[in-house]
Amino acid sequence: MSSLDSVFRGTSLVISHAQLLSDAVAKTAAFRHSRNLVFGYVAYRLASSAWRELVARGLGGSICDMYNSVAKVFFRYLLRAPGIRDKVGSEVGKVLADMEQSMIPRGPGITRHLELPEHGWSDEQIFEEMRTLSLMKHSAWEEGKVSGAVYHGGEDIIKLQTEAYGMYSTANQLHPDVFPAVRKMEAEVVSMVLKLFNAPETGAGTSTSGGTESLLMACLAAKMKGYHERHITQPEIVAPVTVHAGFDKAAYYFGIKLRHAPIDPVTYKVDLKAVRRLINSNTVLIAGSAPNFPHGIIDDIEGLSKLAVKYNVPLHVDACLGSFIVPYLERVYNEVDASVKVPLFDFRLPGVTSISCDTHKYGFAPKGSSIIVYRDSNYRRYQYFLATDWAGGVYASPTLAGSRPGALMAGCWATLMRIGDDGYMKSARSIVESARTIRKAIENEMPQLRVLGEPIVSVVSFTSTKLNVYDVADAMVKKGWHLSALQNPAALHIACTKLTTTSCAELVRDLKEAVAQVELEHSGESEQEIKQKQGDTAMLYGVAGSVSTNGIVDELVYGFLDNLFKA
Ligand SMILES: *Cc1c(COP(=O)(O)O)cnc(C)c1O
Repeated sequence: MSSLDSVFRGTSLVISHAQLLSDAVAKTAAFRHSRNLVFGYVAYRLASSAWRELVARGLGGSICDMYNSVAKVFFRYLLRAPGIRDKVGSEVGKVLADMEQSMIPRGPGITRHLELPEHGWSDEQIFEEMRTLSLMKHSAWEEGKVSGAVYHGGEDIIKLQTEAYGMYSTANQLHPDVFPAVRKMEAEVVSMVLKLFNAPETGAGTSTSGGTESLLMACLAAKMKGYHERHITQPEIVAPVTVHAGFDKAAYYFGIKLRHAPIDPVTYKVDLKAVRRLINSNTVLIAGSAPNFPHGIIDDIEGLSKLAVKYNVPLHVDACLGSFIVPYLERVYNEVDASVKVPLFDFRLPGVTSISCDTHKYGFAPKGSSIIVYRDSNYRRYQYFLATDWAGGVYASPTLAGSRPGALMAGCWATLMRIGDDGYMKSARSIVESARTIRKAIENEMPQLRVLGEPIVSVVSFTSTKLNVYDVADAMVKKGWHLSALQNPAALHIACTKLTTTSCAELVRDLKEAVAQVELEHSGESEQEIKQKQGDTAMLYGVAGSVSTNGIVDELVYGFLDNLFKA
């Protein structure tokens, strides 16, 4: 018998034994039992997930969701169909080419630096080139004509920040032993923010690179807390549709399901009943804004806090925008208009477990600066990252970044110390007053527009059923203004900053003019036509101007992002 034969015989023997064995196993009660168990578990997971959807969205909503996801797939295939694909491709190409031309100036007088200069430049050459670059055509933020975007605190603050950077330009918070000063500054800034939001003694936080990172940290910490304390493996967050897109980003990055709760059509605050329906055993966090970006409305945080306590889930309050205004709101309205009741939104509400506050918005710190704070330091631990057995040594980092720019923290600390409590009170008051002026002017003098909800902070948003608001935005651009375009519903907003406090009378005058112009130019349009047009132009406004974008928004936005990196 050849050895090959014996191998063959051996193998077949093993196979036949295995066959016998598996037959025997299949017949045993234990196997049947465990098979049923696995089947039962899978069926249970599927059913409970379907049940959660049904509870969350209702029967109508679930059918709607199903229809939408089928329609989405269908359109994706449709866009790829021969004939259609080429047509869409060439349309997209045209818009992107236009966009590229306006974003990336080329031609005579513009030198492109696509590789390292062979010999390093002199300081003079560099400053000369940077001065030229600063003259590139841009929106007129210096005159207070841009909504939000630039939150500086005045020329003297900018000068102070520049000097603070200079002193600490090499500093890195990753090495507190080398740079103890910036460690101390960071701890102190966190402490100041905890105080502003009435945190208890146990309160704790970190600085981050901006509001988005603060939100990422809040969502990550909630996910890890849910995993470690409640064994949640399919985490979900419940947040209003008006919450910042940073929550969508967190969901995308960390594998969390974001369930959007609708808002009340009158108050524009999150619908608490909807939030309650969306909470389930997988919910690791609920969230609200103080105020939100689109409409500048503070959600009913007190109501959310009650839900948080009742269902024992953490509650995040996004005060990224509210930052250094909302803590002063009670005092401001005591002075300005005592009839306005400022709701509670901070750690005084027992359900609030974390708050994000952007020092780089109304704190006037240099860009790249925000604070995330928690009710207690145990919670903060869940955002930390440890690699204690790394070949490079014991590694630990509190936030997304490894190395962190100590210069920014120095700039932030210097700003907070320089402006102080009285300074922030003063700036909060003047910004709130200018938003009130704009709101009142729209409500009293522009019957074509309607203010959304009752904004009491710094943002005023408005819509219209009588005009296409995006036409109003275009008319305002011609007057040098840059308002933010919103969608669902179509609306515009202005976020008042320190810069706009001196330009709000001018804004009111120009807005009135713009509304009158649009009304005159489009006088024949029906309400239905206006609605249709607002729907079409909503998506890409501000990225590519008013283009019709049905179904191809993603392609255009991908192109926009690619353009950012063309030299
Ligand atoms: C600005 C803002 C943020 C964070 O934005 P960043 O650009 O990352 O600083 C978060 N929430 C709201 C409501 C905001 O307005």
